[in-house]
Amino acid sequence: MDCLFCKIILGEVPAQVVSETEHTLAFRDINPQAPVHVLVIPKIHVPNFAALAEHPEALAAVAAQAAAVAKAEGVDASGYRVVFNTGSGAGQTVFHVHAHLLGGRGLNWPPG
Ligand code: 5GP
Ligand code: ZN
Repeated sequence: MDCLFCKIILGEVPAQVVSETEHTLAFRDINPQAPVHVLVIPKIHVPNFAALAEHPEALAAVAAQAAAVAKAEGVDASGYRVVFNTGSGAGQTVFHVHAHLLGGRGLNWPPG
């Protein structure tokens, strides 16, 4: 399967890995939108948030790692955002589900 994030998991495409668990990988976004911008992905290939919701253990693992990375990156006290862009109309460009962890600056609401 021609999936960029599966290739990152396999080490075929380099990435700045922040942390790894049995079921998830966290790495820095190549085009960061905030001082802390980390992508957290499950190691199983599922295309989007709806598909991830059908795998509760993977969903929980992604959530747990996002929270752990937020703490490790020191943005848990100041506040951070976890976003799943879902569908091209919402800005999804890579169809291997990923949580964006954003922090280290003020984050406006509503988002754009
Ligand atoms: P989406 O637009 O699907 O919500 O998010 C995809 C994200 O992946 C974007 O923020 C983009 O900057 C990031 N991205 C795209 N290609 C690469 C890559 O090769 N390496 C890394 N680390 N991030 C990537
Ligand atoms: Zn994939």
